[in-house]
Amino acid sequence: MSDTIFGKIIRGEIPANIVYEDVDLMAFEDANPQAPVHVLFIPKEAIASADLLEDRHAELVGRLVLAARRYAREIGIAENGYRLIFNTNGDGGQSVFHLHLHLLGGRPLGWPPG
Ligand code: AMP
Repeated sequence: MSDTIFGKIIRGEIPANIVYEDVDLMAFEDANPQAPVHVLFIPKEAIASADLLEDRHAELVGRLVLAARRYAREIGIAENGYRLIFNTNGDGGQSVFHLHLHLLGGRPLGWPPG
């Protein structure tokens, strides 16, 4: 299992505000939120980045996106809109090397990102 900070959250070694969990996935609030809603959806499998995804991960990634979409609907931000982001490697702004899907919403989001 991962030894990143997200691995520690998965193993319950450090706290997080967990909003969803199943056998393969977990979602928790971002510690430094960039919008009123900022939740990270992660697989429990320690995949370092989107760039390292393989064909065998197709279903897992699909479930990650669907979990985020379902959560956005549940908390009532879907109609106004939201953003799903995989920051990937250095230029992509990735700082934690355990795959994570950002769900951002609750306000209009600027484009393009900085
Ligand atoms: P990224 O820059 O795409 O790798 O995103 C990593 C995200 O993890 C950032 O938005 C951080 O605020 C968030 N983060 C880092 N440590 C924690 C933590 N212990 N609990 C929740 N979110 C965290």
